[in-house]
Amino acid sequence: MDPTRFPRLHVSSHPLVEHKLAKLRDRRTEPKKFRELVRELSWLLGYEAMADLTTQPITIETPLEPMAGAELAPKVGLVPVLRAGLGMVDAMLELMPSAEVWHIGLYRDERTLKPVEYYNKLPDAATVQVCLILDPMLATGGSSSATVDILKAWGAVRIKQVSLIAAPEGVATLSGAHPDVDIHVAAIDRALNERGYIVPGLGDAGDRQFGTFAGPSSEPGHDPADETAEVVRRLQRNLAEEP
Ligand code: URA
Repeated sequence: MDPTRFPRLHVSSHPLVEHKLAKLRDRRTEPKKFRELVRELSWLLGYEAMADLTTQPITIETPLEPMAGAELAPKVGLVPVLRAGLGMVDAMLELMPSAEVWHIGLYRDERTLKPVEYYNKLPDAATVQVCLILDPMLATGGSSSATVDILKAWGAVRIKQVSLIAAPEGVATLSGAHPDVDIHVAAIDRALNERGYIVPGLGDAGDRQFGTFAGPSSEPGHDPADETAEVVRRLQRNLAEEP
């Protein structure tokens, strides 16, 4: 994929990010270590994603004298995509302790790969100006696009997606539906497989964080479902046809 086709796509080139991502992908990495790495990578990507936030001047007093300082101007909202996005929240709250955390529950229908909303308690009017959607894996882009739809309707002015790994198909879907959304990732992988998993990827980010391996049928690559494969083929055709 040619990343220059997507002006809002930011792929980190930080050596610490590359180092930690390789450990995260490794199949031998246990859930405890996996959670630590998700947290550390989220911190690093969050730091990069926040680089263009505006500040406003404030006056502070050091023990010696008053001086001009700065504080973040916009209110920031964190929107983890349940459940895998939860592991990214703590790191972002360390960076921005006053950020609000809003939960929107979408699950991916395993056959159609379409997002289905099951939880949304956003108040009527937006309480933040900048929203960060947190999802370790930007796979089809379906959940992210649906989340952006919800946040824009809510009144969020600026929206950024922060993910650890993206598939080209997911970047194309999200950028196509919402060209104003910044996408910050540690890596763009080769493709989606016929089950909608990112390859080479890291497997299921939720299962690997929370240790919920239900057996062979939950593993990527097992029992390919026809409808899922067709959805992936359609996303791949869209990607190939984009100018
Ligand atoms: N969700 C995951 O957890 N992994 C993938 O590869 C794709 C979606």
